[in-house]
Amino acid sequence: MTAENCLFCKIVAGDLPSESVFESETTFAFKDINPAAPLHVLVVPRRHIEDASVVTAADGPVLADMLMAARAVADAAGLATPQRGYRLIFNIGPDSMNSVPHLHLHVLGGEPLKGHFGIA
Ligand code: AMP
Ligand code: ZN
Repeated sequence: MTAENCLFCKIVAGDLPSESVFESETTFAFKDINPAAPLHVLVVPRRHIEDASVVTAADGPVLADMLMAARAVADAAGLATPQRGYRLIFNIGPDSMNSVPHLHLHVLGGEPLKGHFGIA
């Protein structure tokens, strides 16, 4: 299901370019265009979900797939735990500066990240 005029639905469909780093049946992961860390990848569900605040129990499997995709991306970048690690972020709504209304998990890492919650 593709939402009309959704930037990330268009990226998943291949109608807009992206630098894909991982794909699964239910997820798509690509490099953030404006990276905030040496590794900054967005993991999105192929199916349009507005944001993390509208997720229901029925979305459980795709959420697990997103977390496993994030781990695959981080592991491939050499950031596997317990030695390295990474940060996963969901932004929701204006106070978080969420800018694209298609659920996306930020995968950040590749250096010691500043600020425990990424707000400083
Ligand atoms: P958020 O602020 O949580 O909504 O995150 C949206 C992210 O999407 C930002 O980090 C942007 O840099 C990123 N972004 C916007 N457009 C593109 C694009 N065409 N390709 C890759 N990343 C994008
Ligand atoms: Zn979408």
